[in-house]
Formats: sequence, C-alpha cells, structure tokens
Amino acid sequence: MHFLPINKQDLNARNWSELDIILINGDAYIDHPSFGAAIIARSLEAAGFRVGIISQPDWRKDEDFLALGKPRLFFGITSGNMDSMVNHYTAQRRLRSDDAYSPGGQSGRRPDRAVMIYANILQRLFKGVPIVIGGIEASLRRLAHYDYWQDKIRNSILSDSKAELLIYGMAERTIVDLARRLDNGESILEIKDLPSSVCYVSQPGKPLLPNAEDCRDKATFHRMNRMFYELFPTQALYQINGGRWLKHNPPAPPLSCEELDNIFALPFMNAPHPVYQGQTFPAWEQIKNSITSHRGCYGGCNFCAIAVHQGRKIQSRSAYSIVKEARRIKGSISDVGGPSANMYQSTCKLGFPDSCPRRSCAFPQICPNLQLDHDAQIRLLDEISRLPNVKHVFVASGIRHDLALGNKRYISEIARKYTGGRLKLAPEHSSPKVLRLMGKPPIERFEAFSKEYFEEVRKAGIKRQIIPYIIIGHPGTTMEDAIALKHWLDAHNIQVEQVQEFTPTPMTISTCMYYTGLDFETGEPIHIPSPGEIRKQKELIVKTTAGKPKRKHRQ
Ligand code: SF4
Repeated sequence: MHFLPINKQDLNARNWSELDIILINGDAYIDHPSFGAAIIARSLEAAGFRVGIISQPDWRKDEDFLALGKPRLFFGITSGNMDSMVNHYTAQRRLRSDDAYSPGGQSGRRPDRAVMIYANILQRLFKGVPIVIGGIEASLRRLAHYDYWQDKIRNSILSDSKAELLIYGMAERTIVDLARRLDNGESILEIKDLPSSVCYVSQPGKPLLPNAEDCRDKATFHRMNRMFYELFPTQALYQINGGRWLKHNPPAPPLSCEELDNIFALPFMNAPHPVYQGQTFPAWEQIKNSITSHRGCYGGCNFCAIAVHQGRKIQSRSAYSIVKEARRIKGSISDVGGPSANMYQSTCKLGFPDSCPRRSCAFPQICPNLQLDHDAQIRLLDEISRLPNVKHVFVASGIRHDLALGNKRYISEIARKYTGGRLKLAPEHSSPKVLRLMGKPPIERFEAFSKEYFEEVRKAGIKRQIIPYIIIGHPGTTMEDAIALKHWLDAHNIQVEQVQEFTPTPMTISTCMYYTGLDFETGEPIHIPSPGEIRKQKELIVKTTAGKPKRKHRQ
C-alpha cells in the first residue's frame, strides 16, 4: 500500500511516464475516505487508472501545477471538502484565521473561488486537456445561484470556470464511468448524458429553467428554485448560463450497500501524506477515529444542502464493513454516524421512489412509509464496543430526536452507553413559524424527547447533558422570535453552547428565501434580518446563557 503520486519522483519510482488523471485539490492530501480527493482518486485507481494528486498548489506559481506533467485523460478539480468561500469567511463575511483542512490549521493555502482559479490556470498551461470540476464547491454552484459574498446571482460555476464538465454529488461511480468513456475514445464534448453531471449542449430540451440572467429578479429566482427542487431528481433540466445552454442531468442512482462497502475497502493509508512531516490538521484530528456508517439525509432541513449533494436516499454500509474498519482504530471511536446518526439503515417501503413528491420524509410529519431501524444502529454499536481494540465507541453525529421519540430502548442505550455524556440535538429554534421555514419539527417534539431521555438517565442513575444547536438569523426570524427563543431557553433551563449564525450557502432553500425575501412554500414576503439585527439576536441568546453559568440542560 502506498500514497498516490504527488510529484515526478513518485512517477519515476513507479516507472510511469504519465498519469491518466490528475486531481487538483484545495485541501491537503489526507488519504482517508472522509476526504473527497482521496476517495475519488482511490476509486479511479481501483478501476485501473493511473492517478496523481496535486494538493493546495500555490496559485501564484505555475510550477506547482506542472508538478505531475500533462494527464492522458483529464484534470479533475475540487476546492476540497468545503466551498472555498465558506472555508475562508464567517457568516459576517470576516476572513477566518484558520483552516481545518490545511497543515497546522493555517489559512491562506488556497485561493478564494478555488475551482475557478485552478481551472483558469490549467487552461492556460495545458491547452486542450479536458477539465472536470467537482466536489462541494462545484456541486452547489452547478446552476445559477445566489453568492452571499458578492451579494449577487452568479452563473453556474461550469460557465464561469470554462471547464468542460461538472460532476455533482458523491461522484465515485460517475467519475469512473467518465474516465472509461474517455479511455474508450469518446470526446468529453460528446458526453451529454452522464448522470450527476452538468454539461453544455447546443440545443435545449425541456423543461427549461429561467435564464441565469433573469434570476436576478427575485420572483424569477424563487420560481427557478421551486422548479429545480421539484424536478431535478427525475428529469434533465436546461438553463441559459453565460450565453450558453447548460444541461443538468438527473442524479445517478444511489450506491448499493456492496458498492459503498467496496469504496470503504479501498487501500487508503488512513493518514496525512508524509510530505507534511507530521504537522497536525484540525479536520483530521476530528475525523481520524470516526467511522462513516451511511450517506444521504431525508430530513430536508431547508438550510442544508446535503439532499442536493448526497441525495435523500439513505445508503448504508454493512455492519461487516463498518466493524472491519473499527478493528483498525485503537482506543476510543469518536463517532459512528452520518448526516443524522439514527438514519442508519432507514428505508422507504416504496424504495424512496423518484416520483415521491415530498422533499422530506420527516417533515411536516414522519411519512408512514418510512421504515426506521434503530435496532440496527444499536446492534452495530454493541458489536463495535465488544472489539478488544475498542475502549469506547460514541455517536457524535447529530441524532434526529423526532425519529427516535417513543423508542425507549434506543434512547436508553444511547444515553447509557454511546453519548459520552453529551448528546447533540438540533432543535434550531423554538418559534413555530421559524421552525416551519427551516423545515424542522415542532419544538414540542424536542421537549418530549428530552423528557424521555432524562427519564432513562434517571432510571440508569447516571449524569447526562443534551447539547442543543440553535440557528440565529434564519430568514423569517424577527426580534420577537428571538425574544420568544430566549424565554423558551430560560423556561427550560437550557444553556446553549452552540449558537450558529445563519449563513446563506449556495443552493439551499433557505438561501433562496434570504435572497428573495419570500417564503419558499407560499411565495409570501417574510422578514429577512439584517446583519446588525442578527448580531442583536445572538447577543440576546448568548446573554441568556452567560448570565446563568450554573444552569444546564442536564441530569
Ligand atoms: S414515500 Fe415517504 S418514506 Fe418514501 S420517499 Fe416518499 S416521503 Fe420518503
């Protein structure tokens, strides 16, 4: 087992004169399945391609981009695990001083709008070599979108970067299909039907989304997003972007359990590349002893983009595959989870049909066709905890309390064995109006879950805390809502440790509401708090807790 090539010496060591594919990565190279470039590179390698990675090239130095020469098939570009603008700036648009995906946590190792900058450099240095963009930055900017940092509607990043093809979502299968087709002699300009891709076409089909330019008009942008969310899972969509026709192909089918297991069984080194000489990476420290159990989320929270990136159909690994991974971790396993830990092994009686008109299987009510399997998660955790190399195993990913409500056995097991004393839950707010706009369950379900949780805690004679996550400044939140939240927190003796300011990240429904000032469902005008008002809302909540250091939501 070895790391993937990062320079010419690595190619010489393998006796390779050229690579098939070179990935340009905005993050440091950490060879682990939680890091996008690594999982894509390993998938391509397993399909028989020669792949190299150039991580965090200095965009002011051409030689960094020339390090591996010219690839035979294409360059693939990702900004890394985060959108570069989200990575660089706070919700108040202030520059961050750290970067969890860079050596030593230092900022400044990638440019703003990394995908576009990297693509422009490669076009200049390697004329005629196809460029494919992917990762979260490309995925969530794949059509006309609102850019909070410039406060304007931008074109698709495919059009802005002038790359040949965009792949969205979790792209392991799609990128391998693409590489095979190019290897078989197809031109990238002829590939118009690849699932999970966005490409240029000469003639539009139907349905047509409103033109990108027209989306500056707020009502039009609202209409475009309504169409997109309703139609993209099943139909190809077309849009004029920067004067050219774009075709947005529907997403690829979800991976089977076996396919997912095979990806996690690839020969990852499970470490940062030695070129970093032992430097630490905050993201790696957080992730290195954790295990991904599944992908996807059917929660449909409006401020979250997981459903348009990973999809809402749950794709779970087998217990065998997860336990095998657990055997290599010594001591404590910090997390076994996914976007919501207790969605592991959830299925839909109808097989999550593309034709289902609901965006969420859990909101406004839990769908009767949803089949939860909390026992599968507990069996898995129990099995891992019995491994001789494992001292403790925890669930640090969030748990959807509304799904677990009423399942006393699950609540008891989680409380007694697997939270490490602190259970993270995300009520997000208390106002019924704000919760509806967020797509979150009513606060009464959080209260009911907390009651059941602490009953089990009392029975077990242990001390436990619930850590509630709260979002301040979501579209539709007034000062009155913030005051109501403060009263609710006071009334329930809750000390909030996490107060997140709403950030309008590209392509979410909440971002659409932020830009348009319209309720996504009804089209009615809603209040959009200004940055100053958001600060005041935050101060109100922080003061609520700061004045009561001894009051905790705990037993
Ligand atoms: S039928 Fe229900 S469980 Fe199935 S996909 Fe639709 S909302 Fe989800």
